[in-house]
Amino acid sequence: MVSERCIICGRFKNEGIEILDKFICAECEETLVNTDICDSMYDMYKELIKKGIYSCQAEGL
Ligand SMILES: [Zn+2]
Repeated sequence: MVSERCIICGRFKNEGIEILDKFICAECEETLVNTDICDSMYDMYKELIKKGIYSCQAEGL
């Protein structure tokens, strides 16, 4: 199984979920799931996904 880079912690992990083609490792997923503030979590997701997309483009991927 190929490791994927988590868009939150930036580490390569095997276990996790994909949201909009962006990978979030199991540890970060658990952190987010345990976050009570849904609105903040949603904003954070959006920002992280944007950053993930931008960083991929910057790297020429
Ligand atoms: Zn992570």
